[in-house]
Amino acid sequence: MKDQFGRAIDYMRVSVTDRCNLRCVYCMPEEGVPAVVHQDILTFDEIARLCGIGVRLGITKIKLTGGEPLVRRGLPELLKMLKSLHGIEQVTLTTNGILLKEQINELVYNGLDSVNISIDTLDAERYKKVTRGGCVEKALEGLDAAAKFPDLRIKVNCVPLKDTDEEEYVQLALLAQSGKADVRFIEMMPIGMGKAFSGKSKDEICSILRKHFGEPEEYKEPLGNGPAVYVQFPGFRKRVGFISAVSHQFCGGCNRVRLTSEGYLKPCLQYGSGTDLREMLRSGASDEKICEEMRRVIYEKPACHQFAVKNNAGNTGEKDGRQAIDSMELEKKGMSRIGG
Ligand code: SAM
Ligand code: SF4
Repeated sequence: MKDQFGRAIDYMRVSVTDRCNLRCVYCMPEEGVPAVVHQDILTFDEIARLCGIGVRLGITKIKLTGGEPLVRRGLPELLKMLKSLHGIEQVTLTTNGILLKEQINELVYNGLDSVNISIDTLDAERYKKVTRGGCVEKALEGLDAAAKFPDLRIKVNCVPLKDTDEEEYVQLALLAQSGKADVRFIEMMPIGMGKAFSGKSKDEICSILRKHFGEPEEYKEPLGNGPAVYVQFPGFRKRVGFISAVSHQFCGGCNRVRLTSEGYLKPCLQYGSGTDLREMLRSGASDEKICEEMRRVIYEKPACHQFAVKNNAGNTGEKDGRQAIDSMELEKKGMSRIGG
């Protein structure tokens, strides 16, 4: 369906847990987030029901995310349930890769279309520091296990931090050179713990990579479901991509909504607005009623985020729907609880 600004919404990011086996400094506090009790998390049947209703509204692609989705027991089973929904074209996964080696066979067997693996650096010490204790070897074993499936699209995602050594980006880009994965650099967003960090922009990363690999060509073919912009460096077998929500805002083409692990449907990452679908599910609402509520929230999706506004609290004063959002409440949850 189209929202109030004419954007076609066909992609839902579904968080299956708020828990994680890592503690990335910009995403989770060291002690972890207060655990949501099991009963408050949607069951697989509830998730599948909501995705099925989403299909009626034009959702065709689903991304499983978290927290760390692979810590939720039986995730391949959920994937199978979602893939069997008539109208769902793609189910993809975002993971830190730590548990991927053990689960990839079943995931692919059950129809996984593509996987994003978050690896901010290949340097073992830096990785340990950024993830507060993680082992990069494990994530790389997950990547290697996924790479054994030639039809599975793999993207490695890195959120560059200000103090990262240039060489670390070069090492990550080599994964694209060798053809193992597309490598994407995601700009730090001022969400949750991310507010306290500054990252590196597309232009900064690109100029570092240019020094090592030469002048890239813009890659124009559509790739994936999201806002990434891709380039191809000379001799590279795969692409390098950039997702720059802050410096190159792409809200005009946004095609997504989010469902948190507790069943809250969120139309935009930055705002707290949305609706509690779990309450409806558990109080016996019909599919039609839930569908109407989802339609309302999707239709009312805000025009744009305001990440670039200092402290996220200024007034943009423009007339294309932005004035209305200046008064909207900002999201208080961190990325791991929203399902980034
Ligand atoms: N645990 C999984 C993972 O790391 O891929 C899935 C959930 S994680 C929240 C999804 C993605 O969000 C990761 O690539 C992570 O690096 C990114 N992320 C987390 N906080 C962020 C922030 N403040 N700005 C930009 N990206 C962020
Ligand atoms: Fe966990 Fe992913 Fe957040 Fe890192 S970015 S703490 S792996 S949810």
